[in-house]
Amino acid sequence: MRDLPPPSAQALVPFVSVAEMMAIVHRIGLERALHALTDRIEADFHRWPRFDKVPRVAAHSAIGVIELMPTSDGDRYAFKYVNGHPANTTAGLQTVTAFGVLAQVATGYPLMVAEMTVLTALRTAASSALATRALAPAGARVLALIGNGAQAEFQALALKSVCGIDTVRLYDVDPAATAKCVRNLAGSGLTVIPCRSAESAVEGAEVITTCTADKRNATVLHDNMIGAGVHINAIGGDCPGKTELAPAILARAQCFVEYEPQTRVEGEIQNLPADYPVTELWQVLRGAAPGRRTRGDITLFDGVGFAIEDFAALNWLYDQLPPGGTRLDMIADPDDPRDLYGMLMRAR
Ligand code: NAD
Repeated sequence: MRDLPPPSAQALVPFVSVAEMMAIVHRIGLERALHALTDRIEADFHRWPRFDKVPRVAAHSAIGVIELMPTSDGDRYAFKYVNGHPANTTAGLQTVTAFGVLAQVATGYPLMVAEMTVLTALRTAASSALATRALAPAGARVLALIGNGAQAEFQALALKSVCGIDTVRLYDVDPAATAKCVRNLAGSGLTVIPCRSAESAVEGAEVITTCTADKRNATVLHDNMIGAGVHINAIGGDCPGKTELAPAILARAQCFVEYEPQTRVEGEIQNLPADYPVTELWQVLRGAAPGRRTRGDITLFDGVGFAIEDFAALNWLYDQLPPGGTRLDMIADPDDPRDLYGMLMRAR
């Protein structure tokens, strides 16, 4: 193949690899990044009516799901490809992996392609922090974290950095996962307490985050484990037939969701009648709907993950792009835009 003129700058698309993503997080500092992402998601939730919204497109199999999550604010467009395969870890693979694209609406050209496995952990933790900041009882300091897998440390550190959590009580059905989490959080400034059961983990906790992976209607939290004045982030139940909470807890809780049409299908509320009342979180953030009413309320963030959170995360990442990063030659760039054929033939 003979030499061709290099593609023009606009045809070279910035690509954020896993290595570059990790370098960006370390340059900023993980807790600062989590805080910034929380604020970025909140800012986009404030602009909620401006976005095109659609429940994500899911391809289910017996053992997992592959999903596409698109949205646009009219100026930029984003989508994420993400999977959820709870049995993957037994084969040494992750439960969740993801990548995504940010594009400009005006031309349809991509602005950036990025890994989103790390970014999803960051934005999921930031979303829990956003809900907790808005809904948890004032002064909450103790978090119970049920499910100590890939998402867990991010959840703990986001709630420390954004909400002032200082103690984390850990439980996982697999003690090795809890031991990993204890090791990873050592030196974080959090008091970390491994527990032998979920019942023990929630003792004295004002905030509970469930982030377990199991493709069934599991009961990670039973009704009798939840007292008054607690905020729950239930993030592991995120597709049909995959939930974590006893429905009786929902009957006692004020329930907050990201995008109701998607959560009715994927969230904890899939186990309840279609008229079970929920509030979209953006309405609380904009002051259009009440959040926690009394200190004794149980508030539940039934988080499944929504495209606007990924849109916010990708736009945040785009602002952090270092000069001289990887660029992908992925957009054909003929000198004459109508002579794609000529470009191909000249490359013979
Ligand atoms: P992971 O497989 O790395 O970890 C899950 C952990 O849950 C494992 O350590 C497992 O032993 C534990 N577990 C399973 N059943 C349990 C139970 N009954 N009690 C206690 N622990 C239990 O998965 P991950 O990447 O950490 O993701 C956790 C969950 O969060 C998954 O279900 C995933 O689909 C979901 N998720 C949701 C969002 C969102 O936006 N809501 C985003 C990312 C991941």
